[in-house]
This record gives sequence, structure tokens and C-alpha cells, in this order.
Amino acid sequence: MLDLPFDPLKRAKEVEELVMKDLARKYYRFRPAKYYGGIATADLVGCPFLCAYCWNYKRNLHPEMSRDKYYSSDEVANRLLNIIKRKGFNKVRLSGAEPILGEKSFEHLYQMLVDIYKANPLLDFILETNGLLLGYKPEFVRRLSKFERMGVRVALKGFDDVSFEAISGAERNFFHLPMKGLHDLIGNGMNAWPAIMYETFGSEGIGKIN
Ligand code: SF4
Repeated sequence: MLDLPFDPLKRAKEVEELVMKDLARKYYRFRPAKYYGGIATADLVGCPFLCAYCWNYKRNLHPEMSRDKYYSSDEVANRLLNIIKRKGFNKVRLSGAEPILGEKSFEHLYQMLVDIYKANPLLDFILETNGLLLGYKPEFVRRLSKFERMGVRVALKGFDDVSFEAISGAERNFFHLPMKGLHDLIGNGMNAWPAIMYETFGSEGIGKIN
């Protein structure tokens, strides 16, 4: 059982240990998806948050229990590039969980990006993240900013510290980190934008973060 609220940086570290083997990461699916007009998608395992509405809730609550396989960054890049070729897409993303949990998962992501852009410099990579580790580690943002065709969608989990804790399960004093991550991305010249759920924010919450 996971006691709520929890320290999400501590949980990120623990989850990273469970979903990374050296620099290979657990994934549970590779697929073409209809979003963004058609996008090659790799679904990961492992997140430092535990949102009540997460569509991958059970897997993210118990990443150690899933029998999903570990894939190296070049294996993931090759699978995504194959989907691109087969479907005629020009967009790629990771989904299902949080791509960045710490140093190891960041290196896995970074090497995959290097491989993907080496094979096809004109692809658009959309990084879907909750922004926690990007706010905590500014060097991650600086390293990502070299990928000019990358867009970053930061899914915000609250409009203030109280709603953040209620939605993500993480302690409220970490509310500022995803917002900082978003600001740092924009400050480094990256194409980054917030994603919010109207059902959880309402018009009052949207007004507060504007
Ligand atoms: S941040 Fe996303 S992947 Fe993580 S628990 Fe929340 S909804 Fe699920």
C-alpha cells in the first residue's frame, strides 16, 4: 500500500529502480495512435505521481508486478521508426507513464532521441510529461533544448498546492516543480505548453494558473 500523500521525488527514485535495468526501460506497448493527426507511440511503465484518474493506474501503482519487457533506447527508437514508416506518420511520442524519473531514465530518453533524429531529422517528437523532474533538474531541460523539433506537453496536476495534492497524491509542497519545469522549458526557447483537465480544474482553476 502506498501512503498518501507521498514525497514524489523519493517515489520517482524508487520507481526508476523498478522500471530500469541498466539503461533499458520497461514498456508495455508500441502502437500507431490517432492523436496529433497520427503518431507513433511507445507506452512506458512508471510514474512518480498516482493520479486518481490515471488510465494506467494499476500498472503505475505496482510497476514491479507488471511482466512487461525492458527495451534499450535503440530498440525503442527502431520500433517507433518502423511504425512511422509503415503508417506514413511524422510524429513520435512516449505515453502511459512518466518518461523522466531520474538520471537513468533521462539517459534512456536522451539516447533514443539521438537515435531517432539521426535516422530522421525531420520528425516531430512530442514529450508528454508531468514536469516534476524537469523542474527539479534544470540540466535535463538544457540538454533537451538541443532537439529543435521537440515539443513538450506538460500535464499540470493542480492549480494550487491543495488541488495538486488531491489530484496527484504527492505532497503539496512539490506543487511548484512542474510549473518551474514548464517555465524553464520556455525560458530555454523550447516549444512547451501546459495541458490541463477541465473536469479537475474548472474555470476557477484555469483562471488561477493563467
Ligand atoms: S502523471 Fe500521468 S501517468 Fe502519472 S499517474 Fe498521473 S495521469 Fe498517470
